Amino acid sequence: MKYCKKCKHLYNDSDELCTDCKKTLYEITDNNTPVFLMSAGGFELQRIKTALEDNGIPCDGVRQKYTTSAEAVTGYDSSYQDIIVPYAGYEKAYEVCVGIGAIKEGEEEILEDEAAPINDGAKTATEEFEEMSSTKRRTVRIVSAIILILIFALVIYGTDFITGFIKGLFS
Ligand SMILES: [Zn+2]
Repeated sequence: MKYCKKCKHLYNDSDELCTDCKKTLYEITDNNTPVFLMSAGGFELQRIKTALEDNGIPCDGVRQKYTTSAEAVTGYDSSYQDIIVPYAGYEKAYEVCVGIGAIKEGEEEILEDEAAPINDGAKTATEEFEEMSSTKRRTVRIVSAIILILIFALVIYGTDFITGFIKGLFS
């Protein structure tokens, strides 16, 4: 397993560069190496930290430095943190987060080197996506049909109105 020294994200051995920072990845040799688990804020952050501590996994929250201006204005980012765990506890921490529903399987990036069972979650996510996109397609079709009818009505009644108006001028 490799990791990025800057953002602490984990990578597979086959990866060379961090996709976020474009930095060279380093092989993890120390089980205490801090690695990125996930980001969370507010109540969710507290819930995850408590669950990890209950399972004997030491964790640390690192305040995110990069925030969008909208979040800065609303103050939403004030408690938003990256949760960092030691490499040795990563797999268990991941399972704990899946267990409490903080990480939805198939939603987060799953690493090939991991033993976590992912098939069921991934399938459900795909089905959901397909269902959603077909609903969206149907909605678009209905909306464009309605717009077409409105345009026809406008042309027909509009013409009638203009014809009546012109007739009125000359009568
Ligand atoms: Zn990075």
